[in-house]
Amino acid sequence: MTQTLLSFATLFVLWIGGCGSVRAHSDVHSASHQYPFVIVLGVAQDAGYPQTACRKECCRPAWTDAQRRRHVACLGIVDPISNERWLIDATPDLREQLQMLDAVAPPNRDNSSQPGLSGIFLTHAHIGHYTGLQDLGREVTGAHSVPVYAMPRMRKFLSTNGPWSQLVELGNIELRVLEDDVALQLNKRITITPLRVPHRDEFSETVGYRIVGPSLSVLYIPDIDKWERWNRAIEDELSRVDIAFLDGTFYRNGEIPGRDMSDIPHPFIEETIHQLAELPLSERAKIRFIHLNHTNPALHPESSAATTTQAAGFQIAREGDVFTLQTAPHDNRH
Ligand SMILES: [Zn+2]
Ligand SMILES: [Zn+2]
Ligand SMILES: [Zn+2]
Repeated sequence: MTQTLLSFATLFVLWIGGCGSVRAHSDVHSASHQYPFVIVLGVAQDAGYPQTACRKECCRPAWTDAQRRRHVACLGIVDPISNERWLIDATPDLREQLQMLDAVAPPNRDNSSQPGLSGIFLTHAHIGHYTGLQDLGREVTGAHSVPVYAMPRMRKFLSTNGPWSQLVELGNIELRVLEDDVALQLNKRITITPLRVPHRDEFSETVGYRIVGPSLSVLYIPDIDKWERWNRAIEDELSRVDIAFLDGTFYRNGEIPGRDMSDIPHPFIEETIHQLAELPLSERAKIRFIHLNHTNPALHPESSAATTTQAAGFQIAREGDVFTLQTAPHDNRH
């Protein structure tokens, strides 16, 4: 399993290394052992792929071929030097995602507190982003004091609504404070900064995250209403990082027949491509679309949506992909 994941990641990163702009990420196989890194543990929208009760063409391939199934969007952050691991979001697929994480970065044996996480950073209270916390309760792992970082409304939501409040009361999780745009030092090598984004905030605020390592950094924004509703320019935020996982929920308008898509706003992949078309290729090549809905044709690498996206200089996020947060010394020779 470890080898499969790593070799897949190595191949992919070596391949994107050919683009030039992201050459610093090459040689992940060794780098993933030496340097802090981020791993993609899921790429689908909250409902996963295939989606419950979907009997349409979009999900048919995944019902018949388990290889085509995708987990809910999630990133793991690993520091092999200190042997620490963090998650961004606790998804309904937490069980499999922890297993994927164990395969590339086994939990620290000194850390007896199941599930061997130094923390979970939550984006918001939509079901794909926090309900995996249920596996930390006494029915499953009976975790001890797993730090769960969340914004104020999100913390209140968890501590005042069952079954989440029981996790707090029993000490399975420890809620920790996050503040918009205030960097938090994970350790000597990694910082993480929550960034508020506009989204349908029924139960909580919504944040994305900027993760900064020793020399490379990653932006993660799985859910946002529209880029123009943000008080930041996506172009500016993109210029500050080396890789950006951005909301790619829907490929284009009208993707869900019979449903008013303005009720569930997201920047369509087509819109983002159009908005950023004039940026240099080195900027566009940083982007990996993530949080793909079951209806999104870009889930399928052979689709014209996926090939059009790539032809425009952008990528679709893939499970198992690894991005180091530090440039390997030999990269300077390129
Ligand atoms: Zn979501
Ligand atoms: Zn479907
Ligand atoms: Zn959401």
